[in-house]
Amino acid sequence: MRKVYLDHAATTPLNEEVLNEMLPYLKEHFGNPSSIHSFGREARRAVEESRERVAAALGASAEEIIFTSGATEANNLAIRGIARAQQKKGNHIITSAVEHHAVYDTCAALQKEGFDVTFLPVDEYGMVSVDAVAAAITDKTILVTIMLANNEVGTIMPIAEIGQLCREHDIIFHTDAVQAIGNIPVNVKDLNVDLLSLTAHKFYGPKGVGALYLRKGTRLNVYHYGGAQERKLRPGTENVPGIVGLGKAIELAVKDLEAKTNRIKVLRDRLQEGLLAIEHTKLNGHPQQRLPGNLNVSILFVEGESLILSLDLKGIAVSSGSACTSGSLDPSHVLMAMGLDHQTAHGSLRFTLGVNNTEEEIDYVLEVLPDIVTRLRSMSPVYKGSNK
Ligand SMILES: *Cc1c(COP(=O)(O)O)cnc(C)c1O
Repeated sequence: MRKVYLDHAATTPLNEEVLNEMLPYLKEHFGNPSSIHSFGREARRAVEESRERVAAALGASAEEIIFTSGATEANNLAIRGIARAQQKKGNHIITSAVEHHAVYDTCAALQKEGFDVTFLPVDEYGMVSVDAVAAAITDKTILVTIMLANNEVGTIMPIAEIGQLCREHDIIFHTDAVQAIGNIPVNVKDLNVDLLSLTAHKFYGPKGVGALYLRKGTRLNVYHYGGAQERKLRPGTENVPGIVGLGKAIELAVKDLEAKTNRIKVLRDRLQEGLLAIEHTKLNGHPQQRLPGNLNVSILFVEGESLILSLDLKGIAVSSGSACTSGSLDPSHVLMAMGLDHQTAHGSLRFTLGVNNTEEEIDYVLEVLPDIVTRLRSMSPVYKGSNK
């Protein structure tokens, strides 16, 4: 059967060139970077070269990059590490209601531990306003953490402006940039951030490896203990093949960014136009300030889960809301924060396009989806009850 993958916000396929750079580090170059013999030195060289590549892609310097097991760990390390390091100054943290669980739940846990956390509301497009951040700042605020681009609806936040505001108030600013890398330009200086999280498998790298950018001079408390790796901030023997893969993947991700994403955007817009032509559909997320490959729509009078299963039978892979919340019946916290009612949120479907998608694939989706929607609606008592 034909397979069409439209779930790149969940994960991306591994790039062949990335795999080829990783292979020697899974085979002959298996040394531990902490060893001083030639095996260890080769592994160390590869790790440090990758650190240079990640730094170059972000406009940072190598010593500002800490390798982690992914963005979940980077977010936990950033938020907990800053909260603890700044505790003498204050106990107030500002975040948003639409963060990924790795940020949202970390902040919620700190709240339980006694920190004062503000979860800023968003507008109908999932956007956090700079004014709302400004209004929430107090003399006890120690950390602001707001994502660069949302993983469900693709909305791109005004991070550079929020960063500027934080600088003016001498408050540390972290952003989860996972969905942005390889989709929009990400430069730590332009964005005015002190910390930034990323994970390789969202930009055609391997799973289980990521990084935290930590601006020079920013103090972070450790919360894992072990060896002296990653300046003791993230102890544990390095995932050498993964780190090599991350370095190559980010180098490729930022190359020809505009040409790549312009192509994806054309396909996305084609899909959007076709989908919104189906009656009782609605676009979720910001109409313009949105990731080029993201299309989140609500198809009323059908369950997102049923749509996913029906599309899967046709070989088409999409998701509803966040992949992490699929499997639970609660609607996505992001869509709820945007003010969608339960029914509209439950009918949401997320298509996220990547570099390998083709016009033919989009046309295939547009060919099979309307019939699926018609069939599912014909079984819906709510739809029959509406005057349609
Ligand atoms: C995927 C994702 C993460 C988590 O990345 P892991 O590789 O699972 O650690 C964090 N934040 C956002 C916005 C994501 O999309």
